[in-house]
Amino acid sequence: MLPTADQPVTSDTPAVIGIDIGGTKTLGLVIGGDAEILVEQRRPTPHSAMAVVDMLADLVSDLIAAADGRVEVRAVGVGVAGLVDLHGRLRRAPNLVGADELAVRDLLEPRVGLPVFVDNDANCAARAELESGVAVGVQHAVLITLGTGIGGALITGGSVIRGAAGMAGEPGHMLVDPNGPLCVCGLRGCWERYASGAGLAYLGREAAAAGALSAVGSELRGDLDALRGEHLTRAARLGDPEAAAVLDTFAWWVAVGMANCAALSDPEMIIVGGGLVRDWDLFGPRVRATLGEVLVAGAHRPVIKVEPARAGEAAGALGAALLARHESGLQRPA
Ligand SMILES: [Zn+2]
Repeated sequence: MLPTADQPVTSDTPAVIGIDIGGTKTLGLVIGGDAEILVEQRRPTPHSAMAVVDMLADLVSDLIAAADGRVEVRAVGVGVAGLVDLHGRLRRAPNLVGADELAVRDLLEPRVGLPVFVDNDANCAARAELESGVAVGVQHAVLITLGTGIGGALITGGSVIRGAAGMAGEPGHMLVDPNGPLCVCGLRGCWERYASGAGLAYLGREAAAAGALSAVGSELRGDLDALRGEHLTRAARLGDPEAAAVLDTFAWWVAVGMANCAALSDPEMIIVGGGLVRDWDLFGPRVRATLGEVLVAGAHRPVIKVEPARAGEAAGALGAALLARHESGLQRPA
């Protein structure tokens, strides 16, 4: 909601811009000193790397114009799916065509005349959960986003950990099965081959090929390449026991990767975000139950809370803005 005349935003308010570059759409927003959203705009994400930089420069300019002099924007944060180094360079981005080794910060800063900070989208989402979502006050957590692939973030001591090169918290490509299917990253048997939206579809195709998903197979007239996670979740909601069994297998794989994350970082909470959270009721209880069974010393350690993310669709952009505010040294008003 925009501030009204009786809720003035002074030009002293340290406003920052946050932008979340998604595979199909990009969300940009301006936040004020209390992390309140003052302006937000959406753009389609272009399909070439340089067009993305052009779009970002235009979006920053339009957001500043929309803020209409009510605040002075002091920095820009950008969240993007992929491996981002500590110099704001997107090193590897399987979902953005031609964007590998894209120097986002160095290309954007001279265009917008503001300091630019870039991080992985899940790291940004984790900042939003710490600020105003499910992880307010939490010191040690892991965030996992279950979408087409799996993103992640590690929170230790209340801060998002970036690692030596900026690439910490990428659990999607932990190897869980050396003989598993080929991954988009070029390796084999990564966790996200089983526990993402694409992984759910893979498990469904395996079940259908083995004759253990007859209703969904009939619906698709045998075209198993067309099988998507939605086919399974919809069938499970309609009471199909075979679809429910695939979701149980899926939940097991989700829990296995979570256990690996937990064995490494001993979190008090695991936050689950991404598009699959919509169907959390179908597989979440099984994930929680399995985690206690497959995590080392599961019966001898505090129960790890597993909670759906709460910061919503704007989490990535909000977290990118929080990154910019933190990294540029801007503080909230007391
Ligand atoms: Zn992989």
